[in-house]
Amino acid sequence: SLKHEVVIIGGGSAGIATASSMLKRRPSLNIAIVEPSEDHYYQPGWTMVGGGVFEASTTKRTTASVMPKQATWLKTAAASFQPENNQVTLSDGTTITYGILIVAPGIRLAWEKIDGLEETLGKNGVTSNYRYDLAPYTWELVRNLKSGRAIFSQPQMPIKCAGAPQKAMYLSCDAWMERGVLGNIDVEFRNAGGVLFGVKEYVPALMEYVEKYGIDLQLNQTLVAVEGSGKQAVFKTEAGEETVEFDMLHAVPPQVAPQFVADSPLANAESGFVDVDKFTLQHVRYPNVFGLGDAGSTPNAKTMAAARKQAPIVAVNALAQLDAKQAVADYDGYGSCPLTVERGKIVLAEFGYDGKLLPSFPKWVIDGTKPRKLSWLLKSEALPWIYWNGMLKGHEWMAKPHLKKAA
Ligand code: FAD
Repeated sequence: SLKHEVVIIGGGSAGIATASSMLKRRPSLNIAIVEPSEDHYYQPGWTMVGGGVFEASTTKRTTASVMPKQATWLKTAAASFQPENNQVTLSDGTTITYGILIVAPGIRLAWEKIDGLEETLGKNGVTSNYRYDLAPYTWELVRNLKSGRAIFSQPQMPIKCAGAPQKAMYLSCDAWMERGVLGNIDVEFRNAGGVLFGVKEYVPALMEYVEKYGIDLQLNQTLVAVEGSGKQAVFKTEAGEETVEFDMLHAVPPQVAPQFVADSPLANAESGFVDVDKFTLQHVRYPNVFGLGDAGSTPNAKTMAAARKQAPIVAVNALAQLDAKQAVADYDGYGSCPLTVERGKIVLAEFGYDGKLLPSFPKWVIDGTKPRKLSWLLKSEALPWIYWNGMLKGHEWMAKPHLKKAA
């Protein structure tokens, strides 16, 4: 089987950023990226598509266009791992071997765990910003709704971008308020979790919007079934099951480790994600394996922002490993969630491990716990540009790894 110095599984946000970051440091490196998809997505833009701010097409580019020139693209899926033999089996049955393996295939959206949901997505008022093809339907529903009940659901953690279910809701409410129909629409947020947002410092600002929009906040409610043609949703509550009628349903599916990772020796026994050290992002049993992005077992917020910080850390630690040296950089758990509370304002949550606030800006520039116009400009103008031209190219203006002090 073919051997590469470095094999990366997944050419999404984390995989491409890591490849570019490694090649910036060592241009001669032989890297193969295993990625079956022709298309590459800027998923954080989907919230803006659902809110009528971005065109969907601005969030998609070809995978070919984001592949680093010096990397080899293997346009196929990885099927299984044999880490004892430094080997990956691909979906066509062929194998490749590696010096270093970097695993970044993202998280799997488990639509099938909500009965009846998949077949009604994109019609009957049922939508989700979690899919490229459905985010425009969210905006279509928002534009056309004049009265009735709109439900926004959120599943159990972990999910990628934990704020995205409520972002969709706030932008919808803002549009309805603007059109003067919000008073005729009953808006419900039904969250499987027990809190509005996991880091308490951001909750007061969000609660002000819940009150301003008149949102009925219902916690510990899990969406378990949808009956599309009858426009009914079934929620599991502490008291039993409740069936509610809706005119619009924004559904977010439960999310799990990709099956081929969960089934492999690389999996964390509990979660099924790639079992890595939360600081070095190095596998806990196989030192020449690293994992990052949504597929990693680390307890950070699963976000693009996290992947942006993790990629250079994996790059320097993997290069050290290739040179038979110890890991040189630690990840602090940074993740970010720009909560679009209204069109034009964002509550910019930025935090690391154990909910420690890690703001990128001094408070007088951006106070992340308050709705701010500057944060909106960051999300709508700066961050997409930084993604395509900085992060994916391996430039590290905003994510330089802090090297550990020499021992
Ligand atoms: P992905 O970017 O999903 O890439 C995974 C790649 O692996 C894909 O290209 C896939 O094709 C490939 N793959 C899958 N299976 C295999 C296989 N078997 N073999 C090989 N390749 C495979 N983050 C933020 O920071 N801020 C936000 O505001 C934000 N908003 C979001 C809003 C929405 C609606 C969504 C859906 C996400 C949002 N995110 C946000 C989260 C962010 O998009 C993800 O955290 C980020 O894309 C993770 O990068 P990744 O590389 O781990 O996964």
